[in-house]
Amino acid sequence: MAYDETDELPDREKAKEFYQKYEPKDVLGKGISSVVRRCVEKSTGKEYAVKIVEYSGPELKEATLREIEIMRLIGGHPNIIDIHDTFESDSFVFIVMELCPNGELFDYLTKVVRLSEKKTRLMMRNILEAVLWLHKRNIVHRDLKPENILLDKDMNIKISDFGFAVQLEPEQTLSDLCGTPGYLAPETLVCSMYEGANGYGMEVDMWACGVILFTLLSGSPPFWHRRQVIMLRMIMEGNYTFSSPEWDDISENAKDLIRNLLVVDASKRYTAQQALDHPFFARDTQGEKTFYPRKTFKVYIIATMVIQRLKTLKNKPQSIRVVDLIENPYRFKTYRKIIDTAAFSIYGHWVKRGEQQNRAALFEIEPKCDLKSIHCSRIEVN
Ligand code: ATP
Repeated sequence: MAYDETDELPDREKAKEFYQKYEPKDVLGKGISSVVRRCVEKSTGKEYAVKIVEYSGPELKEATLREIEIMRLIGGHPNIIDIHDTFESDSFVFIVMELCPNGELFDYLTKVVRLSEKKTRLMMRNILEAVLWLHKRNIVHRDLKPENILLDKDMNIKISDFGFAVQLEPEQTLSDLCGTPGYLAPETLVCSMYEGANGYGMEVDMWACGVILFTLLSGSPPFWHRRQVIMLRMIMEGNYTFSSPEWDDISENAKDLIRNLLVVDASKRYTAQQALDHPFFARDTQGEKTFYPRKTFKVYIIATMVIQRLKTLKNKPQSIRVVDLIENPYRFKTYRKIIDTAAFSIYGHWVKRGEQQNRAALFEIEPKCDLKSIHCSRIEVN
């Protein structure tokens, strides 16, 4: 996506501290009240991303400071965006964080449409490990979606945008409606519809993981209808299908994991740890880490035999079929030599050089056509 480069930067006078340490560069993306730019740390030459939020009121300031606090609490996980530095002025806040030059998972998905099971497994494992890290600290993200999952230079996933994240007190539940419609859990919708509903907790992130997993594998979301009311009803009922043909070649393990994540009853929904323990993730671990000595030995033997065979192939005599031998003996190397030697000894030089060369004619059993016709005319004359 191209962004307007004329986007004004905050006044240098108003944010001296930031400008002393960093050189702002091109715009990477925009939020409702923020602009994210690439920036270079002057002392190290290292590149970072800086989210510049302009305070339009005290509420936004409070929310931004809360976001920074959460980001500091959860730092240190390889799949969560790391905060590097922060600066605050009267009207702006600068959040310097690690740079994800490959943008959003959403844009990547738009390009490739769907991912293979192997790639999905890799990405989903990282997403779930990051979610487990958050949940162990009683933090609920509340807006997990491919737009908030960024890709670093090596295509590793990094969960970002902690604008809606909250650290829960023991036994605390939430009831406010926030997130993105297609990823909202049924219990979030129930809270917004019925007074006195039970509230929701960290399970909403696991529902969102189910929606993400479904979308990565099939290229389309599980709950979608052009009329949002119908889509929300589908979510509340957990009404989705593994339709044909997109799901025909997707493993039962993947489907089973989705079935355990997209569970309307939040208390029966898989936790991040349960999801990571699901057999869907076991296959890759076996492939990557387990060593099978017998199998490996067999593969080595076969590979050596193939290489040996290829090496000796050019020295081995060709197998000869009698039919081919009669039709064209000159094709075969051994006979070619005999024919050439015979031709040379008869004519004292090589005969019929050039494209039409056919020394095999010496051995032709049938008489040539022109000889045949002379022979026939002679018979007629006689
Ligand atoms: P909103 O303010 O509406 O919640 P948002 O929080 O989704 O918006 P930001 O976090 O401000 O948006 O980010 C805006 C865009 O900037 C992102 O969608 C992403 O494309 C880009 N972006 C954010 N952080 C980084 C980063 N660390 N590296 C690279 N690009 C980033």
